Amino acid sequence: MDKAKKCAELINSSQFITVLTGAGISTNAGIPDFRGPNGIYSTGKYDPDRTFGLRFFLEDPLPFYNFARDFLGVLEKAKPTYAHRFFAKLEGDGKVKAVITQNIDGLHQKAGSKNVIELHGGFQRSFCLQCGKEYGFEEMKTKIFKEKVPHCDDCGGLIKPDIVFFGEQVKDFSKAEEFVYKSDLVFVVGSSLAIYPAAMLVDFVRGALIVVNKGEVNIDPVRVDIFVQDDIDSFFMKVSKYLYGGEI
Ligand code: ZN
Repeated sequence: MDKAKKCAELINSSQFITVLTGAGISTNAGIPDFRGPNGIYSTGKYDPDRTFGLRFFLEDPLPFYNFARDFLGVLEKAKPTYAHRFFAKLEGDGKVKAVITQNIDGLHQKAGSKNVIELHGGFQRSFCLQCGKEYGFEEMKTKIFKEKVPHCDDCGGLIKPDIVFFGEQVKDFSKAEEFVYKSDLVFVVGSSLAIYPAAMLVDFVRGALIVVNKGEVNIDPVRVDIFVQDDIDSFFMKVSKYLYGGEI
């Protein structure tokens, strides 16, 4: 049977869907996969350890903030992809209960998803490491472009965005695990499942499992109900035709 048709049928017969997403869902939005050909791990523009290592950050936060200025500039122009919007719509329909993401780009929220579990955090909130003062996204963005290294207005302490750095624990893992466990259908979209903790989360799948990724995926195909290696947006456009009679 046509994979898109089978996927639509599984969605129709499911009550509790959880979606796990990785960098691949955002590449069509123009955000390079950090580990892909244009990502920071490959281009050499930034040293990943110096950029995202907590110890390095505390010693010298400039490499991270140089990256942050670049990244926020890209984010400003980025629009959610079709797949981001597709899952936001399914949440509105009451089907999708949670989106668990490894991405820090906030595109699920931009697309309208409400229950987003950001395993690696994001730029939505930042905190002064000295007094704990919280800075919202817009305020922090202004500071990032105004100050080379943003410091607290109240106490002068260093500010760190609520992003998970190397050496820090991922966020909300047990909450993510619970959603996966409760689900009758789990999507893994745009993740190679090569990196902890996404790779671990699939071990909690009890229901059906659909994997959609353009590249390789580190999973035993026997465990997957539908395995799609194709452009993510094109696939969900096809699924929409079966679900909604056309594109959303
Ligand atoms: Zn402070």
